[in-house]
Amino acid sequence: MFKEARFYEKLDKSQVRCLLCPHLCKLSVGETGICGSRKNRGGILYAMGYGEIAAYGIDPIEKKPLFHYYPGKKIFSVGSFGCNLKCDFCQNYRIAHERPATMHMEPERLLEMALNSKDVSIGVAFTYNEPVINAEYIIKCAKLIRSHGMKVVLVTNGFINQDPLEALIEQVDAMNIDLKAFNDSFYKSICKGWVNPVKKTIERACRNVHVEVTTLLIEGLNTDEREMDEMSSYLGDLKKDMPLHLSRYYPAWKRNDPPTPVETIKHLSETAKRHLNNVYIGNVPGIDNNTYCPECRSVIVDRSEYAGKVRNLKDGVCRVCGRKILIRND
Ligand code: SF4
Repeated sequence: MFKEARFYEKLDKSQVRCLLCPHLCKLSVGETGICGSRKNRGGILYAMGYGEIAAYGIDPIEKKPLFHYYPGKKIFSVGSFGCNLKCDFCQNYRIAHERPATMHMEPERLLEMALNSKDVSIGVAFTYNEPVINAEYIIKCAKLIRSHGMKVVLVTNGFINQDPLEALIEQVDAMNIDLKAFNDSFYKSICKGWVNPVKKTIERACRNVHVEVTTLLIEGLNTDEREMDEMSSYLGDLKKDMPLHLSRYYPAWKRNDPPTPVETIKHLSETAKRHLNNVYIGNVPGIDNNTYCPECRSVIVDRSEYAGKVRNLKDGVCRVCGRKILIRND
């Protein structure tokens, strides 16, 4: 079932311009946007992914990854199809860049499924493909989900315009935002986007919702130490306690480079720690990914793989030294 989109304008000759993301696709009748999920039918823009669910399941919250948001808990996770970036290393390309089979789920049905999993899940995460291209569906679902005391999480590339971002922020509790590199040349050549809108999303979102940032590191492409220093300094200026996840790349979709050496990631993690208190390494089994108090180094969350156990945290402060800890765990 197609829904008329929000965030677009009608132009002459039945053309429309989608205002949802910075691509601002101008579409004639019958054309679909870059994301593959918004289409001009008869001069009206439709959100083709509305309620179309390609994958769902219950995941550890750490898998999003969110390490400072209800550690050790699980979250009901859903994804649709399409993406407004074209990263050639996409780890979810089957649903992001192909047209997977979907089942239709109206917001009320999604709520029902979320409620059914309430005993083991804190809410709903919109993830797997790029959620912002389904902003209309998420906004509708999120209102229902939050009205039942559950949380709403987005795992996003952050490539969105400011008006729809504002509408989403009103309905969302936490976001993991990809910052794929800190320069336009990587974004343009590898992802077919640009970095500034993503920075704006991080800056705006971290004022109102819980934000963690993820960078997938590909040896030689976004592993320059100076760039990491600049990027982490930028994030640290926004919030020194903002968690940064440096994930190890593995070959996927169109990219065949070998996996990024673990030593490279460890080295860049030390660089990022000059400016940020919470830097984690992803996709490397057996690494120390505990959360430590930035003041006294006590273990706050004991973490192994996707399981987190809260240790020295009470009422938002370190139980040992009293330092405020940026972890939602109420
Ligand atoms: S959301 Fe899709 S259709 Fe809209 S501007 Fe972005 S890529 Fe184009």
